[in-house]
Amino acid sequence: MTDTDIKIKEAPAGYEGPGFFATTLDKAVGYARSHSIWPLPFATSCCGIEFMATMSPHYDLGRFGAERLSFSPRQADLLMVMGTIAKKMGPVLRHVYEQMAEPRWVLSMGACASSGGIFDTYSVLQGIDKIIPVDVYIPGCPPRPEQVIEGIMKIQDLIRSESLRRRSSPEYKQLMAGYGIE
Ligand code: SF4
Repeated sequence: MTDTDIKIKEAPAGYEGPGFFATTLDKAVGYARSHSIWPLPFATSCCGIEFMATMSPHYDLGRFGAERLSFSPRQADLLMVMGTIAKKMGPVLRHVYEQMAEPRWVLSMGACASSGGIFDTYSVLQGIDKIIPVDVYIPGCPPRPEQVIEGIMKIQDLIRSESLRRRSSPEYKQLMAGYGIE
């Protein structure tokens, strides 16, 4: 790797001059959070394999600061749901979501997680947003790794632009109450 291969990320909006840079706390925290996502992969079927490809060296999700997967909900801030979610699995998924600390985000990967996909049957949940709120949906069956990366980048945009107070706002509480989550 040469010096020219190293790309410096743009700093958040703020004021700069010789020897100083000033911005708001929201922007600084959002910037740090968006580049240090800890995803929890909740993979139940084939979309999970596509996610494994996204983690591999060719696509390298580590470039986005998201290579540290967490299999404990208490140490994750992005729940990635990929695959068919049977109705019996619904309470488990919701339990995992509830165990995550705020702030937390949810990414629904693929047709099955987002809408039940081709499995329009009595046993399959027709979209995880029936039981937990979703921030970003990735279409496809399965989505390509490039789409997964774009989904992660959309989550990064959300994180960067989110106010530190959003989680205690009446609108957010109302959203959670709509799902019966305190
Ligand atoms: S969306 Fe397609 S690839 Fe993904 S879990 Fe469903 S059937 Fe499998």
